[in-house]
Formats: sequence, C-alpha cells, structure tokens
Amino acid sequence: MQFHEPFPDVIRPFKIESIMKAKLDPDVCWKAVLGRDASLDGEFVFAVRTTGIFCRPSCPARHPLRRNVDFFAVAADAEAAGFRPCLRCKPNQTNAPHAQSDLIAGLCRYIEEHAAETIGLHQLSEKAGLSPTHLLRTFRAVTGLTPKQYHTACRMKNFKGILRRGARVTDAIYEAGFGSSSRLYENTSKSGLTPAEMRTGGANTWIYYTTTQTELGLMLVAGTNRGLCAVELGDAKDPLVKALAEQYPKASLRPLQEPYPESFRRWIDTLRMQAAGLAPRRQLPLDIQVSEFQMRVYQHLRTIPAGQTQSYGEVAAAIGQPQASRAVGHACATNPVALTVPCHRVVLSNGESGGYRWSEDRKVKLLELEKRRRA
Ligand SMILES: [Zn+2]
Repeated sequence: MQFHEPFPDVIRPFKIESIMKAKLDPDVCWKAVLGRDASLDGEFVFAVRTTGIFCRPSCPARHPLRRNVDFFAVAADAEAAGFRPCLRCKPNQTNAPHAQSDLIAGLCRYIEEHAAETIGLHQLSEKAGLSPTHLLRTFRAVTGLTPKQYHTACRMKNFKGILRRGARVTDAIYEAGFGSSSRLYENTSKSGLTPAEMRTGGANTWIYYTTTQTELGLMLVAGTNRGLCAVELGDAKDPLVKALAEQYPKASLRPLQEPYPESFRRWIDTLRMQAAGLAPRRQLPLDIQVSEFQMRVYQHLRTIPAGQTQSYGEVAAAIGQPQASRAVGHACATNPVALTVPCHRVVLSNGESGGYRWSEDRKVKLLELEKRRRA
C-alpha cells in the first residue's frame, strides 16, 4: 500500500488481521450480517456450521440461525477451521481492504490539511460513509492510530515546523491548533507540567506568582515558565496566596518581585488592562489542567468580544452541546484564570449577571467597564 505518510515515526505498520481479530465483536458482526452491511466486507466473514460454508457480511443468500454461526476475522481462519467459501459472495477474494486503505489515506490527508481545526469523529465518519465505530476500527487497522491520535500527531508536526520558522512558542501553539499550552502539554510528556504532575498538585514544578492592584481589587497572577496557571481576584494578599498553595500543594511557589521577567511583565500588563475593561488583542498562554470539556468552553469564551455577553445556553449551543448549559455554568465557576478566560461574559438568559467566582459585584463592575470602553 502506498500511503501518504508524514509521520513514519508514529505510524507503525500493523497487521490488519491481528487488529481485527482482537476487535471482533459477535454482536456487531451479527448485526452487520442481518443488515447485509457491505461496508464491513473484508473485515470479517461468518461461517455456518450446518452447511460448512462461510460468507461475507453482505452475502445475498438467506440468513442462517444465529446459533449456527461463527465469525472469523479473515477467510483464511475460516478455511483453517474447515469451512468452504460461498460461491455467491466469494468471501476468499478480498478486495475491500484496498478500498479501505485508500479511503483512510484520504481521511489522513483531510486531517493533515485541517489539523489546526477541530475535527470530530462524526465529521470523519460522515465523510467516509462509515459508522463511527466502523471508521474507528478501520482507521486503527490501517494506520495503527485513532483519528484523534493522528490529528494530534499532525498538530505536533506542524507545531515543530512553525517553531523552526522562528515563531514564538506561544504563537506556534495557537497556530498549530492546540488552542492553549495545556492542550499541547497534554500531548507531550517529555517535560513541563504534565497532566500527571498536575494531578499530584504540581510536584517538582515551580510556580511564580505576584499580586498587583487593579481596578477590580487585588489580583494574584501565577504561572509556570509556559503559561498562566492561576489568576485570582480578591481583597487581601494572604488568602489569595493560600488559595494558590491549596490548588498546587506540591509545587514550589516562588514569589516574584519587581522588576519582573519580561514575559511575566507582559502577562501582568495585559491582565491589568483587562481588569480595567480594555480588550488587548493578545491571548495569554495558559498552563492549566482542566477537562477537555472545560477547555472547549474556555476556548469559546475567549472568542466573545469585550462589551458583549452570552447566556450559558448560548455558550452550550456554540460548543455543540445545547443540553450542557449547567455544565457550562460549572466550567465558568471553576475557571482557574480570571479575565484571560472571560467567564464574566457569560450571564443568565434573563440578563441578570449570574454568579462569579470572584464575587458578583466584580462581575457587574467589569461588564460595565467593558461596555463603557466599547461605547
Ligand atoms: Zn455467501
């Protein structure tokens, strides 16, 4: 098979047979037989004990009784078990796998070309004309990866390429489609604040922080050398620092004094402008460990312009889960980085402000500031 293969290092040749054998699900197979599902031809055969014949799933012959049927991953296995190929559907003449390889190669090309975008399994399954389950299985059989893993590999490759062009790390992260540094680091394990480290409270990680006065009161800004990990608003320094320590119990917390390192200085400047209702274009890099769902919510929130608001339901609909407005509310309530993920721009559908992790008064004030700046 000639495969359009950008990542020889991650795609290992797999024996299709062994994958299929490992994945054969008799219920799925039987359903395919009853439906004469031609898209599964070449993925397995079924053999009938009473006749000694084996067939493709799509065989037009009359269906046997379920209790007389065995499934085999490949024709050779059925033959080895003493069955003869059906003369009507000729299950020993496989051509399906080649068609599938071409199909999957086409999907790989599609993923490469759209690597920076979100690509859902359903989108791919529609494109291929296969059910999501079938697509997943075929994709893995051909590439050795799930579509998601392949997608991530494409992004990593692009990310490295963008860096080689001389871009800044934070820009490369966004350009490659990771959306945030935490997304990138979810996909790397070599260094940095990996998910495992985060789960252990940031063990062996240095987190730098400082507090600064803003229009909204005192702000704590904390980050690793990769991005912001906490932005909190409050009235006094001690409770803010205590909350940070509770959030990252095993990290080494390092208070920073002025003059701050250059990147940290920029983060603080940007956040202070945001606290004053201004809308700097710069998206600050994040190094937060949150669920995939939270990250999708946060990415969407970052697209709501200052001076505008959306309801929890609107956000839920925007990320393609219209039923999830309560979960959106929870994601907002647990936002670890105030302002830079503007959860304050999500309000109740009746126009009331709804809650805010850092006090409702601050939310109301901030929304007013943003509206005034915009006008
Ligand atoms: Zn047949």
